[in-house]
Amino acid sequence: MMKAAVLAKPADIASLPLRVTTVPKPAAKPGYLLLRVRACGVCRTDLHIVEGELPALTSSLIPGHQIVGEIVEGATPEIPAGTRVGVSWIGGVDGECPYCKAGLENLCDAPTFTGYSVNGGYAEYALVRSDFAFPLPDSLDDLHAAPLLCAGIIGFRSLRVAGVEPGERVGLFGFGASAHLAIAVLRAWGCDVYVSSRGASHRELASSLGATWVGKEQDRPPVLLDRAITFAPSGDVVVSALGSLRKGGVVAINAIHLDRMPEFDYDRLLWGERQIRSVTNMTRSDARDFLEIAGKIGMRPKITVFSLDQVNEALMAVKGDRIDGAAVISP
Ligand SMILES: [Zn+2]
Ligand SMILES: [Zn+2]
Repeated sequence: MMKAAVLAKPADIASLPLRVTTVPKPAAKPGYLLLRVRACGVCRTDLHIVEGELPALTSSLIPGHQIVGEIVEGATPEIPAGTRVGVSWIGGVDGECPYCKAGLENLCDAPTFTGYSVNGGYAEYALVRSDFAFPLPDSLDDLHAAPLLCAGIIGFRSLRVAGVEPGERVGLFGFGASAHLAIAVLRAWGCDVYVSSRGASHRELASSLGATWVGKEQDRPPVLLDRAITFAPSGDVVVSALGSLRKGGVVAINAIHLDRMPEFDYDRLLWGERQIRSVTNMTRSDARDFLEIAGKIGMRPKITVFSLDQVNEALMAVKGDRIDGAAVISP
């Protein structure tokens, strides 16, 4: 048996929908690793799952998709027993659909979502596909590695989708878990970073991490941006980012869910070959490339640690934007 946070029925997080209880430990099977969970990051997507903005796919679920774990069973020659691995949102792909065959596995027609279509890491143990577990650099400890596994990898993919080149002017709209990791990569690439965020403490954090300019949600960066990435689940923020772009610039939307997309003036905001692109999931090469950079630059996310018993509180804090950096569950 093991301790786990179980979602029986999605509901507003204020009603404490996750119940910490004892459930059977998952059984090992070929092609899978049984991990002892050492840490699991908390992502805004978990909140969307727990509150039902993303429809339930299973009758009962253990969420959590930024898992740092130690291999207990299922070791392979490539990943020997005791190896510390990370697991992210994409827990597997079919390998057969046209997208997988074209190297676009992030768009796979039949993906497995860790902590959504299968049980995740808000538990003492987790069963994961061995080909979707990434060995972690020794320079990253368990608690600090966890937020890199979704927030970090998807933030990194957002930079790729936005087409960021070294030295460019890049806007980050919203400054939560993902943005505060993306800025480290951008600074390593010599980019000037312009951050707009509604939270005063988020703005202070952005300044301390090397932002060239920091403003409130409605403030306009003082220069035209080459690229912008939006992190807030708000269509108004996307339009605001679009209004800050030079001709030919790109807005990449790093959000799995937006409240709504408002009407906007095409002639003024999109014409001039500006682009809006969404960022969907991640590939294994995004994960490996990002973890390599993170290890090299000694990335150290700002974290707030919660116990497994405090999982509802952790999600409430994410909902209320009360966390600077990332929330992490330590089982
Ligand atoms: Zn596929
Ligand atoms: Zn996530």
